[in-house]
Amino acid sequence: LAKERGKNNYQFYTLEMTERSLERMTIERGLRHALAHDELRLHYQPQIDTGSGAAVGAEALVRWQHPEWGLVYPDRFINVAEETGLIVPIGAWVLRTACLQAKAWLEQNRPFSCVAVNVSPRQFIESNLFRTIKQTLLETGLPPGALELEITESAVMQDPEITLQVLHQLQQLGVRLSIDDFGTGYSSLTYLRRFPVQSVKIDRSFVIDLPDDEGSKTLVRAIIALAHELKLFVVAEGVETEAQLSFLKAQQCDSLQGYMFSKPVAPEQLENGFMAAGFKIGQPNAPG
Ligand code: C2E
Ligand code: MG
Ligand code: MG
Ligand code: MG
Repeated sequence: LAKERGKNNYQFYTLEMTERSLERMTIERGLRHALAHDELRLHYQPQIDTGSGAAVGAEALVRWQHPEWGLVYPDRFINVAEETGLIVPIGAWVLRTACLQAKAWLEQNRPFSCVAVNVSPRQFIESNLFRTIKQTLLETGLPPGALELEITESAVMQDPEITLQVLHQLQQLGVRLSIDDFGTGYSSLTYLRRFPVQSVKIDRSFVIDLPDDEGSKTLVRAIIALAHELKLFVVAEGVETEAQLSFLKAQQCDSLQGYMFSKPVAPEQLENGFMAAGFKIGQPNAPG
């Protein structure tokens, strides 16, 4: 009986695997089509300065406007893009589109100073990331200081030598660097000292249980203290409630990002809503 059940499980498992690889092939083919037919979009989520309550920047987050599936979120396709290498052309598109948008916002004197762009491990290893970024800044006219790159701990760990070299080049160019999802990877402390970054983003998983969970409180306090000791800025991700906000404020967290202020939205929606409202902390009914 056990043997039979084992066999069934095995069949079920292979069926599931086949379905999954079919899904991946569909996504891969779809992504190539998306790149060629302009189906990718960027949404922007504002980053709020805790002290002044003003929006200081925005993170660009990629979406896929599929003709039949509707708006597809990155959780469904970023992994496939990384595994197939498609993240390199997608990443270049994201970078260029975000820089063009940021340049336009600066010229329109919007309450805005910096656009943050996520960068995947493979972009460091397989493309000439430094040259791409330098070229994109030149072509779009965006000042390097108005661009921030978000890298994850796993990017750094995949090839520390190459990554470190590229990060130093980017720093010299004047681009800002931050560590995304901070606290979820390995060896955070070691490379926090070694890598030329200006800020860390506390992962949403540590923010979500604030301020009731003692473990989360201790961790967030420790991350903020450590980062400040190293002269780094701290951004908290995923701020959704008034209680989380006041805890983070009391701990001197430098800036905040989360649904409480705004979900990621299309650029026009950010302009007409959040940016037009001149939102400040204490008026939590920001549009968007
Ligand atoms: P991330 O860079 O850590 O981005 C933050 C994610 O948290 C975003 O999900 C954002 O919509 C979501 N978020 C922000 N505030 C809140 C909140 O208050 N509550 C909740 N529940 N969620 C919140 P999104 O847009 O689905 O992106 C997921 C991940 O996909 C990103 O995580 C990033 O790792 C990756 N990604 C997105 N765009 C790009 C891109 O252009 N390039 C690369 N390489 N990765 C990207
Ligand atoms: Mg990010
Ligand atoms: Mg993050
Ligand atoms: Mg995250």
